[in-house]
Amino acid sequence: MAPRSAVFIDRDGTLTEEVGYVNHPRRLRVLPRSAEAIRRLNGVGIAAVVVTNQAGIARGYFSEEVLTAVNASLVSQLKEEGAHLDGIYVCPHHPTEGRPPYRMVCDCRKPRPGLLLRAASELGLDLGRSTLVGDKPSDLVAAGAVGARSVLVLTGYGLGEWEYRRDAFPVTPDHVAQDLLDAVEWVIRSRRP
Ligand SMILES: [Mg+2]
Ligand SMILES: [Zn+2]
Repeated sequence: MAPRSAVFIDRDGTLTEEVGYVNHPRRLRVLPRSAEAIRRLNGVGIAAVVVTNQAGIARGYFSEEVLTAVNASLVSQLKEEGAHLDGIYVCPHHPTEGRPPYRMVCDCRKPRPGLLLRAASELGLDLGRSTLVGDKPSDLVAAGAVGARSVLVLTGYGLGEWEYRRDAFPVTPDHVAQDLLDAVEWVIRSRRP
């Protein structure tokens, strides 16, 4: 099977509300137009893959079990609205905080591209025809590192980053969108065959 294109989606601030560390499923709030965005991707056959840094694990703020419960809640809330995620990839590490095995310099904490590379190999994705959507410059850098396009959303940290810090961005986004649905509409409009 030919590799599929994907939209990689940051979780906190992009797919869900940025509320700080999500240490209980009840803290997870899916943003209003996120389910529709995922449904659009499902409808055109573009893989929808979450890529998220969760250093709260390395820092000892919550366990892997809690993270699993939070992500399961995300999947089921989206499913109730007819939206399907093709994968969720998590970096639980931090380079200097907490204890091993989570305290480590890893290749998967964005801005590094390890999560994208792992997803591409496991799910058969064409990175050069894929796009990452996120609310921080570190998301954009991860996309650039694998030849994917990037979209900055103005939800989460996005508005502040774009308004006050864009001069310091190491990578310029290919597009700036109000939210995930706007980003997905841009991806679908501008995709190459
Ligand atoms: Mg984020
Ligand atoms: Zn990592």
